[in-house]
Amino acid sequence: MNVLVVGCDTLGAGHCGCYGYHRDTTPHLDQLARRGVRLANHYTVAPTCTPSWTSLITGWAPVRHRVSATLWMWENLRSQILNDAVPTVAELFQEAGFTTAAFSFLHHLMAHFPTWFVRGYEYHINPNRARLRNRDMSCTSADEMNRRLFPWLEQHRDEPFFAFLTYWEPHQPYYHTAEFAHRFEGDELPTVDTPGGAYIPGFGLAAHLNERTRRDLDRYDRSVAYVDDRLGRLVDKLADLDLLDDTLIMVTSDHGECMMEHGIAFEHRGQHDPTVRVPMVFCHPSLPAGRVVSTGTQATDLTPTLLHLAGLAGDFTDELGQMDGRSLAPELRGETDGPADWAIVTEQAEDMAATRALHTPEWTWIRRFMETVIDPPVRYRDYDAPQELYHRATDPWQTVNVVAKHPEVAAAMDAQLLRWVADRQAPGQCDPLLDPLLLELNALHRRGHIRWRWEERRGALKKTRDPRAGSAPEREG
Ligand SMILES: [Zn+2]
Repeated sequence: MNVLVVGCDTLGAGHCGCYGYHRDTTPHLDQLARRGVRLANHYTVAPTCTPSWTSLITGWAPVRHRVSATLWMWENLRSQILNDAVPTVAELFQEAGFTTAAFSFLHHLMAHFPTWFVRGYEYHINPNRARLRNRDMSCTSADEMNRRLFPWLEQHRDEPFFAFLTYWEPHQPYYHTAEFAHRFEGDELPTVDTPGGAYIPGFGLAAHLNERTRRDLDRYDRSVAYVDDRLGRLVDKLADLDLLDDTLIMVTSDHGECMMEHGIAFEHRGQHDPTVRVPMVFCHPSLPAGRVVSTGTQATDLTPTLLHLAGLAGDFTDELGQMDGRSLAPELRGETDGPADWAIVTEQAEDMAATRALHTPEWTWIRRFMETVIDPPVRYRDYDAPQELYHRATDPWQTVNVVAKHPEVAAAMDAQLLRWVADRQAPGQCDPLLDPLLLELNALHRRGHIRWRWEERRGALKKTRDPRAGSAPEREG
């Protein structure tokens, strides 16, 4: 069996047709879901690229792999290193005899060139040319990635391969080609009644819709449609090469994107569904076509699942024992539905604050561990709320914070969340979200002794962009 991992950066489940979105954004992903298995309640580990991709390729949770995008992300990059002793999925497949190849910009995701994203690849192809290093978000297009991948597939079609492909779209700047320029223009947006008011699925409160926010919503969805179209070309290419019958295709993302949900304008911030729920679809003739798995699953489950489906679990029992994720092979094959009382933990430590969230079928609990000391770069309606509780069963769009109404639920979920973290703490190791050095930096900043370079850069950014107006940045260059 060959394995092809496809990651579309910033693709939220709520904007995919097979996850119920009203626009026809993802016909090709939907087709894979019809031919394969879709995970209906799939979560990332963090709404930030680097920790999320790190969990996807290791099976380890951020609290253990310790790569987290912190408040000091841009100041503190060199402390964000994955221990070499933690194997990546590519290393394991390579050790098992697969030809391994990455078509990916992840090595250029951050200015310090995270080396663990190249580990384990016999072929590593990155057309990005270091543009992200300068914080130019244009990165590289899905067309460029396909142009490099297709000839490689032709050359290596007769070898068992593990190929890892990342598309930058639909990440900002929401790139798409001219053929999508007018897609969705002027279409009618449905509204639903929620406890928080009239609500547009995949956008936020209808009250936030105006010419600019509508324009950016359309741009995001065009970028989704573009990358889905190129995914379709990739599947066609596999069919042309007669590889479909023996290639496991898995499509997912590292996080979603808020349009205007919770007042977070066109950013991946917060721990709410628009940013933490992402698609995950597996397609292979050995899996039941059209199956939907509804138990809660997470990015950390990917690596153990791929090892099991490829028949390699017996070779790597020690490595699997170290992973936080679990193999979803029984759920994918239809042998079990998985636990109905699932619970998923996500986290974020970026410019707004250090937060963790516990998601269950009925509730979402978000706890702030550390206040940010800077003005949030995006307006966050619940910014002043140190705790958030949403009753998903009656408020699936998470529009009203009911923490004051249900203190007993909040207390129980908080205890469960803290227990989850404590169970994963190695003796003598601090919580990476609350590193003493970071707390000290926080205190120094509060007293006015230091400033972050990030804040100065933000001043420059403001000249070209006013996030509070709800507009995503234009593509540069
Ligand atoms: Zn990302």
